[in-house]
Amino acid sequence: MLQPTAFRARLQEPAIPSDPTTSQTSEQLPTYNAYSADGDVTAPLVYVNYGNREDYEQLDRLGISVKGAIVIARYGHGWRGVKPKVAAEHGAVGCIIYSDPKGDGYFEGDAYPAGGWRPATGVQRGSVMDTDYPGDPLTPGVGATANAKRLPLKEAKTLMVIPVLPISYADALPLLSALQGPVAPESWRGALAITYHVGPGPAVVHLQVSSNWDIKPVYDVIATLRGSKDAGQWVIRGNHHDAWVNGADDPVAGQAAMLEEARMMGELHRQGWTPARTVIYCAWDGEEPGLLGSVEGVETHLDELQKHAAIYVNSDTNERGFLSAGGTQDLQNFISGVAQAVQDPETHMSVYQRSHLHSISVAKNAEERSDLRKRHDIVLEALGDGSDFTAFQDHAGISTLDLGFGDEDDGSQYHSIYDDFHWYTQFVDTDFAYGRALSQTAGTAIMRFADADWVPVDYSPQAQAIEKYEADLEKLLKDKQDEFAERNLELQEGVFKATEDPRRPTVPPPAEQVPPYMNFAPMKNAIVSLKKSADRFSKALANYQAEGSPPLRAQELAPLNADLLRVSRLFLNQKGLPERPWFKNQIYAPGAYTGYGAKPVAAVREFMDEKKWTEAEAQVPQVSQVIENAAAGIDKAAQDFERAMAGRH
Ligand SMILES: [Zn+2]
Repeated sequence: MLQPTAFRARLQEPAIPSDPTTSQTSEQLPTYNAYSADGDVTAPLVYVNYGNREDYEQLDRLGISVKGAIVIARYGHGWRGVKPKVAAEHGAVGCIIYSDPKGDGYFEGDAYPAGGWRPATGVQRGSVMDTDYPGDPLTPGVGATANAKRLPLKEAKTLMVIPVLPISYADALPLLSALQGPVAPESWRGALAITYHVGPGPAVVHLQVSSNWDIKPVYDVIATLRGSKDAGQWVIRGNHHDAWVNGADDPVAGQAAMLEEARMMGELHRQGWTPARTVIYCAWDGEEPGLLGSVEGVETHLDELQKHAAIYVNSDTNERGFLSAGGTQDLQNFISGVAQAVQDPETHMSVYQRSHLHSISVAKNAEERSDLRKRHDIVLEALGDGSDFTAFQDHAGISTLDLGFGDEDDGSQYHSIYDDFHWYTQFVDTDFAYGRALSQTAGTAIMRFADADWVPVDYSPQAQAIEKYEADLEKLLKDKQDEFAERNLELQEGVFKATEDPRRPTVPPPAEQVPPYMNFAPMKNAIVSLKKSADRFSKALANYQAEGSPPLRAQELAPLNADLLRVSRLFLNQKGLPERPWFKNQIYAPGAYTGYGAKPVAAVREFMDEKKWTEAEAQVPQVSQVIENAAAGIDKAAQDFERAMAGRH
């Protein structure tokens, strides 16, 4: 900081004497954001809260522009890469992101080393790669092999366009304290002992970022146990092995659990067990900068994977607490059955039961609670982006699960040097009991899936989920119509003018065009077919199981498995999403401005979020088409079952 006083940020996480790992500096990466632009900028500072699009609407109302400024945003409420992206779209020339103790530090619990929470000097590293496509910025859509055709650095679309740097709250405090201008709105205030101001200035900061742009190899480690019966059907399990620094929680807790599964399967194999399907264990590299190892691996082997892959099971971090599971809902019944068979290490109830009862306790309202009470399965939340499942689900159309335990750990050192063994064993999964639970859950899933006669999917939960995604789109439209109509009316009535403090005038929000009605009928009709096909399949399955029938014969299983393997691929559209063609899946995708979070039916939803109603409606028919295709694929699998059954009588 050059004005109003001079301050030089530390940009470093100091060693903590009681934690021996923190003094091992020789392999520590600096505190930085990968794929930030290089730059050297000096400008007044503006505080932008979380730095999301709605925060800039608030700034507009305060009459504050970030054009030519450096913004300071706090971590949280969305993916970090969105913060500099939106800042740049509003004309900012640099972006600083800091960890506020309110969401990530002493407000949550005692700071490390007294407790497990981020200390004043803790910094969250992380990628700020843009969201057009994940993986190597130089090789969109193709594997980054030695001889791949590479874009020149200048043409890579996913590099951040302004310099970005993450800092600790110790480094942020002098900067935020030096801001004047309006007091920040109440919801913008963190837990530092200051009055939060928005600026701009009088703080003026000098931000300089310069990175090493060399090309380096990443190493994926792949281990295969060839199936005895259906070697051409692949059951894939993965977790990344790279870390920002020490990475005890992210990713070693997940990686160690996965290696233990692999070790155990090797042991079983030596004792004579061989899975029916081929089992493939993957330790991915380069996940943290941008899912490099898994995306490039999937792109390199796309044809084989689309031909052979039956499932991908991912994990990443792991902590003490409840099982959380996300993924494609064709696996919902399957993973619920697995979770019923694994015991929670501390309460001794099943991990399913704990997870199910936990979901009731955190449900939003009575209706949601009553829905959950009728269920006997774990509701799989849709996945977007943010770990190594992304390419499998979003690009290759492979049924996907993401598993992990958490919620009862006492601290977070996300992407800091303090995420290490000393910290993890005191505050996170102190006796590794939940590491074992993850091994048991994912390992059981892999073994059951690999040995099942037919690919153990069921489509009714998926049809229900897709029906809900469509209903959410209609609700979003209705909410926006109501919101904008109300706003326009209040503008006409002069509500904003009358209620503002004349001595502190604000800018009224702009009038908005009320969205027209959209035609969702094609999607609703497609969902009717999907539900019908899913129902037919579930019935065929139930009939078969009810009769206690003898096992299906090889010549009956072969077409059934081939058809089942194909269904999840049918959710792809080769053109991809209209503004992000790498994302082929028309149901499961992340949002361009939400990062990790899923934005189901993104082709329609993204345009709606951009208030492009006509463009949104134009996407409905092709989304409907993939749903119709999936329905037909499920019908075919149901028919295989019915035919096999009929053959018995
Ligand atoms: Zn991770």
